[in-house]
Amino acid sequence: MRTSKYLLSTLKETPASAEVISHQFMLRAGLVRNVASGLYTWLPTGLRVLKKVENIVREEMERAGAIETLMPMVQPADLWQESGRWDDYGPELLRLNDRHERPFVLGPTHEEVITKLISNEVASYKQLPLNVFQIQTKFRDEIRPRFGVMRGREFLMKDAYSFHTSDDCLKDTYQVMYDAYCRIFERLGLDYRPVIADTGSIGGDASHEFHVLADSGEDDIAFSDGSDFAANVEKAEALAPAGERPAPSQSIEKVSTPNVKSIADVATFLNVDTNQTVKTLLVVGESAEGETAPVVALVLRGDHELNEIKAEKLAGVASPLEMASEEQIKAAVGCGAGSIGPVELTVPVIVDRSAAHLADFVCGANQDDFHFTGVNWDRDASNYQVEDIRNVVEGDPSPCGSGNIIIKRGIEVGHIFQLGKKYADAMNCGVLMESGKHETLTMGCYGIGVSRIVAAAIEQNHDKYGIKWPEAIAPFNVAIVPMNMHKSARVQETAESIYQRFLDAGVEVLFDDRKERPGVMFNDHELIGTPYIVIVGERNLDAQQVELKNRRTGEKTLVDIDKILDIIK
Ligand code: ATP
Ligand code: MG
Ligand code: MG
Ligand code: MG
Repeated sequence: MRTSKYLLSTLKETPASAEVISHQFMLRAGLVRNVASGLYTWLPTGLRVLKKVENIVREEMERAGAIETLMPMVQPADLWQESGRWDDYGPELLRLNDRHERPFVLGPTHEEVITKLISNEVASYKQLPLNVFQIQTKFRDEIRPRFGVMRGREFLMKDAYSFHTSDDCLKDTYQVMYDAYCRIFERLGLDYRPVIADTGSIGGDASHEFHVLADSGEDDIAFSDGSDFAANVEKAEALAPAGERPAPSQSIEKVSTPNVKSIADVATFLNVDTNQTVKTLLVVGESAEGETAPVVALVLRGDHELNEIKAEKLAGVASPLEMASEEQIKAAVGCGAGSIGPVELTVPVIVDRSAAHLADFVCGANQDDFHFTGVNWDRDASNYQVEDIRNVVEGDPSPCGSGNIIIKRGIEVGHIFQLGKKYADAMNCGVLMESGKHETLTMGCYGIGVSRIVAAAIEQNHDKYGIKWPEAIAPFNVAIVPMNMHKSARVQETAESIYQRFLDAGVEVLFDDRKERPGVMFNDHELIGTPYIVIVGERNLDAQQVELKNRRTGEKTLVDIDKILDIIK
């Protein structure tokens, strides 16, 4: 590839909109461009990286015995009604109608489509087990798309689904996929950890998340310093022995207002300092009849944004408080979700500042030792549980019994689940067994955030000048920078001949044939992060040599032109 025929699109300045390093460099190096909130165009350089990640994932899936398919991104609503997720999935599910007013969704995940397919295509136990994957665009209407492609609304996922007639068989495939995931992240050259995860609303027996370690990560993961134990914080909490820690201190304020009409009013009224990392406020409403119930939970992030968990969602959750019915809550708040109507409310508010380090949110309740844990705005209501609070903090004894807890930030790049029969049951997916009996299948599902990996790799591999790609996913293996080529025929000839040699050898090479100052070219290639730069300059040509710069180490060496292909393959 010649830069003169290429869309390099590098930027000198850091766009103000980009909060994290990976997003800044993805914009500056010309990897992506924003189209609308959470939607990106992949420019040629970004696409080359994305395809490399995709290919490594594909190769390892195939090696693990999974077979590739491609399902539609637009899915009919009736499949989601059949599985029950039409009602359960919440606002991340984008719904749309076609010209005949038939309802559809943009697929955030594909359990429904694949379960339907398998129930139609597979009739006998003899055809199983099967592990089917695709690499495809997903859409989730994230409440807060951010960090560029790290949390986009449209993103590329590899999703695999396995089907089995027995739990043992599912466990075997789960282990095969776990191992395949480890190989993928090793080949990608990333510092990653598999951690035990909560199965949450999906249910099932086992789940692991794969995290790339990075300070910008949105999740907290808990490790033991004395064993291999690693879990996400919710799971570490769930595993921690009861009574290990006393409930953290809370400041409980009881306030009464006739005038709270909106979520913003609540914040103003409570005089909430949004600079503080207060993560949770649980607002408990009391109706005229004296019944109390959680009305709304506000989630404040360090970056001054106020989010809400809708009143509707919190209703119907078992709580140590006397619960009002959903109708009563709605009557009490005078409206549906999202705002508190002009009804007089008594609002005891518990601010749990100690929860600031947690990945999910812990809401207090006005009864000792009872709290809502795992509260988050993209969770099902079924996930809200009332249990003893067991914050896991650094220095705690590890739940595995060996060592103490260390907490690090991670970026969730993969997630595997033993799903069990949830979808197969709902969608009547079964086969005829050897015995002649019809049996419902048991399933596993396995996701990898292909586009998120590109950003995660940059979080781990950069310096102040730009990206330092792991070689396996660099957009080009090598760049050729000729010094003042347009003034020296010798430099031009040599650069052209090295370029040809690379092309012939199948090396992915970017030949910088622009009429630019060398400094401009160097800056661009450092920014893009090509692992090697070959510098062709007049002064080394008498000795038939070029300079070779290693992007990662910064080391420069003189290399005989004839030997260059031995070094870069
Ligand atoms: P998160 O906790 O970050 O919202 P998730 O648990 O909702 O992710 P899964 O349903 O487990 O995501 O999907 C599988 C993988 O898809 C995730 O591990 C992640 O790598 C990727 N992914 C999920 N949501 C996004 C997104 N909005 N943008 C980019 N990648 C995503
Ligand atoms: Mg999510
Ligand atoms: Mg997650
Ligand atoms: Mg997940």
